[in-house]
Amino acid sequence: MSILSVPADSISVEEALRRVLDAAPILQPAPVPLAEAGGLVLAEAIVADEDLPPFPAATMDGYAVVAADGAGWRELIGEQLAGYDAGLAVRPGTVARITTGSPLPPGADAVVMVERTTEREGRVEIGQDLIEVGENIRPIGVDMARGQQVLAAGTIIGPAEMGLLASLGIAEPIVHPRPRVAVLSTGDELVEPWETPGPGQIRDANRYALGVALAELRLPVVRSTIAPDEERATRASLLDALAVADMLITSGGVSMGQRDLVKGLLDELATVRFGRLFMKPGKPLHFATVADEKLIFGLPGNPVSALVGFEIFVRPALLKLAGHRQPTRPRISVELAHPITPGDRPEFQRATVRQGPDGRLVATTTGAQGSSRLASLVGANALLALPARREPFEAGEKVEAILTGALAG
Ligand code: AMP
Ligand code: MG
Repeated sequence: MSILSVPADSISVEEALRRVLDAAPILQPAPVPLAEAGGLVLAEAIVADEDLPPFPAATMDGYAVVAADGAGWRELIGEQLAGYDAGLAVRPGTVARITTGSPLPPGADAVVMVERTTEREGRVEIGQDLIEVGENIRPIGVDMARGQQVLAAGTIIGPAEMGLLASLGIAEPIVHPRPRVAVLSTGDELVEPWETPGPGQIRDANRYALGVALAELRLPVVRSTIAPDEERATRASLLDALAVADMLITSGGVSMGQRDLVKGLLDELATVRFGRLFMKPGKPLHFATVADEKLIFGLPGNPVSALVGFEIFVRPALLKLAGHRQPTRPRISVELAHPITPGDRPEFQRATVRQGPDGRLVATTTGAQGSSRLASLVGANALLALPARREPFEAGEKVEAILTGALAG
């Protein structure tokens, strides 16, 4: 098998990703209101400063009893519902009605579920002979004990983590904030989606496509602009975006054309870390930094190149900024459903990966793979990472894939 090597004027995807992740700073931790913390990364470990539950609580609706009493008729002394202390004390020979989540009255040491009882005229027949001490009771601190670390620094706040933080009364967790992102489409040919393109014009797809890619990461777009292929206007748009964002994502204007102005402006305004990749699609993708704290991605204008570049480089950079410890997606092994013609650059082909009844993961590409053909990303849930080589990829051959969406059935 002959592997075609990286030309001198380009760098490999792996090297490029390394440079991106090395340069991306983790954003400084700050407190945020709990309701806004979903999806963010904890910057500090969370240690429980109280027991949960804070009191022994019934786990069933029924009667709080003295376990040693066993079966028989008992006197009903009152009712303990959730949310307050009814001030009852259960003595041998007496019981209190109790509901799930209510504090166990003093003196009681078990709860008998209502299904095993009969209540009549202020008395209750307990129909269970052997009652264990502690039965149907959630003791103090079983869910979380005071002093216990419940969440490590670096944990992503999902539904369960959010529930824990709320339970512990952490109103403003210290997290890495959401990166603020600016998006800039460049090109004299671009008009807005609701406009009718004139001769030679097309509608701007990239700002809208990238907007959704960012929305999927729950990231706010703080600027979204079209700049014409004119140097002063493009410089002004770049500077304006850099003033308000942690990351600027541009599209277009980084190839070799006369009017590819972003390229030169990045050289002028930022430190360019790479500008040419041994990769398809997306060869002219640029990455630059400003004062080691703001990141600029100059994505190619072709919509597929822009979105693939986002997936491979921008997404990991954003996750790194946001404090994620694992910013890249895992690569999995999938089987090709059909042969694929190889290329002379490593290629990310768009594919649908399905899991067959035998558990095997099988990939079918989404048709013609041209870098302007957005339809090649529609319905795709994976990028196949195909190495550059001369021999065709065969049906049944195993290749690496990055799952970008849910497995297809
Ligand atoms: P460029 O990278 O500026 O040379 O653009 C490459 C190709 O992508 C050209 O055909 C452009 O018209 C197209 N293109 C650039 N920007 C966009 C955009 N925002 N939406 C759709 N197509 C674009
Ligand atoms: Mg252009």
